[in-house]
This record gives sequence, structure tokens and C-alpha cells, in this order.
Amino acid sequence: MNSIVHMAGPVIHLNGRAIQRCPICGYKLVDTKGMMTVLDGEGNAEVKMWIPGQAIEVTEGFPTEFRILPEITVWPENNCFVLCED
Ligand SMILES: [Zn+2]
Repeated sequence: MNSIVHMAGPVIHLNGRAIQRCPICGYKLVDTKGMMTVLDGEGNAEVKMWIPGQAIEVTEGFPTEFRILPEITVWPENNCFVLCED
């Protein structure tokens, strides 16, 4: 299976829903819509999100796998920046 490395962007909270996308290509890394989770006192979903700026390697499948790459200085060749620029 092919893997692509994305960057975690800022977490957006909207009407009790939390969304986190890659700021480079827009890939949706997290969306709490339809996700079973615990709500905090204000009705917001409590879900562990990626730290903005982290490199996340995504392997699509059933289930799709997400893996944090340790602190990297050079992004691997299978990053989404390359795909966006082609
Ligand atoms: Zn991306």
C-alpha cells in the first residue's frame, strides 16, 4: 500500500465538531463527525488530535493507518507537497 506523509494543521472547532486537515493539500486527518466520543462540558468532542506541524504518515486501507513520524529534518519523498506541485 502507498503511504503519503502529511503535516498536521490547526484544529478547527465548529458546533461541537473538531476537524484537523493538512495545510498543504487539505487532506482531512481528523473529523469527529459521526465519531463516538466523549463531549466536554460545552458539548465539544474530546478527541486526541495531532500536534500542529507534526508529520503524519497515512496509509489508506481498511482501516486507514496513521503514524507519527519522529522529529524529522528532511521530509521523506512520499510527502504530499510533491503531489501538490506536480
Ligand atoms: Zn497533505
